[in-house]
Amino acid sequence: MSLDGTYDDDNIFAKILRGEIPCHRVFEDDVALAFMDLFPQSPGHVLVLPKTPARNLFELDDAGLQALIVRVKNVAAGVRAALQPDGVIVTQFNGAPAGQTVFHLHFHIIPRYEGADLAGHGRAGKADDVRLAEQAKQIAAAISA
Ligand code: 5GP
Repeated sequence: MSLDGTYDDDNIFAKILRGEIPCHRVFEDDVALAFMDLFPQSPGHVLVLPKTPARNLFELDDAGLQALIVRVKNVAAGVRAALQPDGVIVTQFNGAPAGQTVFHLHFHIIPRYEGADLAGHGRAGKADDVRLAEQAKQIAAAISA
């Protein structure tokens, strides 16, 4: 999947956005949906997606991107408040050669903890569902506080 192409309505995040596949939601409004990454690189790894179909950064217009990045910041602030990490990474990949595996634009919010290892992108194991639910609840509460 290169940078060019057509949006696939059946990609996994499109299905999550339509509610066809469940997720551990931490935030939602008319612009964005944020939920726990099922394969977290670090505990508390969250994804933030625009509701507009866009494969990558180049396919969302400026107004959409401006609205989205504010949601990314607010969700990251919720992750910070809820989980008290020592640092936070924000990443975003465009095209398979860059590491993108799901072709609906998204930002990763990855908390870092002093002395704790970070799993490589695309190399992390599946997280425990109960743990993800707990983290989502904590983060959602912090965002709406
Ligand atoms: P990308 O590689 O495209 O930047 O990021 C895709 C992310 O989606 C990865 O971090 C991966 O762990 C996550 N992911 C893949 N499938 C699912 C899923 O079904 N549910 C959730 N919540 N995350 C997923």
